[in-house]
Amino acid sequence: MRGVVFHGPGDVRTEDLVLPEVGPTDVVLAVEACGVCGSDLSSYAHGHYVAPGQVMGHEMSAVVVERGAALTGLEAGQRVAVRPMRSCDDCAYCRAGDTHLCGSTAGRSLGYGAQGGFAQRLHLPDVEVGRDVVPVPGGVDPFDLLWAEPLAVALHAVDLAGGDRITRLLITGAGAVGLSVAAAAVARGVAVDVVEPVADRRRAAASLGANAWAPGELPDEPVFDALIDASGAPVAVEAALDLLRPTAPVVLVGLSDAAVPWPLGGHRLTGAFGYRDGDFARAVELIADGRVSLAALVTHRYGLDQAARALTTPRPEDHVVKAAIVPDPGP
Ligand SMILES: [Zn+2]
Ligand SMILES: [Zn+2]
Repeated sequence: MRGVVFHGPGDVRTEDLVLPEVGPTDVVLAVEACGVCGSDLSSYAHGHYVAPGQVMGHEMSAVVVERGAALTGLEAGQRVAVRPMRSCDDCAYCRAGDTHLCGSTAGRSLGYGAQGGFAQRLHLPDVEVGRDVVPVPGGVDPFDLLWAEPLAVALHAVDLAGGDRITRLLITGAGAVGLSVAAAAVARGVAVDVVEPVADRRRAAASLGANAWAPGELPDEPVFDALIDASGAPVAVEAALDLLRPTAPVVLVGLSDAAVPWPLGGHRLTGAFGYRDGDFARAVELIADGRVSLAALVTHRYGLDQAARALTTPRPEDHVVKAAIVPDPGP
């Protein structure tokens, strides 16, 4: 089988790879599509989070090819979502369900340590069906399903921002993360406003049921009871603070090196990283029953041999919301 191997910044190669033997509780999947994440772009450009030899990719839709003899609840041909973030399951964080805080997620997670989804096949050892690999009905669109991981991140961010207590949520930034947050919040019945400078991203946010505004367009009144920043731009957060109720929580989601603007007054500031145990299965459920559909926002599709292009940080004029690598199915 073939897969995309990271060799160094700006250097990925599509190579022949050997799959391990299938153990009694293992599964082999055929990857149908794998989304390109912002973290993949920064891994490719700068070598962040990856070492040479890594098969990248962690936002997968896949189909079962082979399962170990002792594994029940999965059949060949079944479409599944694959939970990419893995942890030790043994430390105090893991035991409390805070698997995202485990010190060993890097090194164990798919695309970061374990083999990722930019490949024709994926071998997963010791699978727990419903947690590591989540079966979905055959009619689910693979390009909807590859959003399960960003949607899990979004559900976690919405929880940190107050969850069901939020009545009106402001989101700054409508890239793939901001749009996932908008979809997650709308699905939970929250009224959502999004501030985003790029017009086609505003249109995407509006298509998900959010009110979309260019910076400076929102009336200058403190009406929102939570802010989730998905822009990583201090200027966007600073402008948004004036639109919040006095003690509204501010949640920063996504990876950013930017400094946090001050003063925050009475706002509680929280960073959101990854997702708790159970968020991934919740995200898959929202997609599987049609309450969240983001397939139309996969704007660009590439084969394995076009991985370098897919992983090159796009320019604004490329109008990329989400790119995906679609491996040819292989033998
Ligand atoms: Zn991701
Ligand atoms: Zn742990």
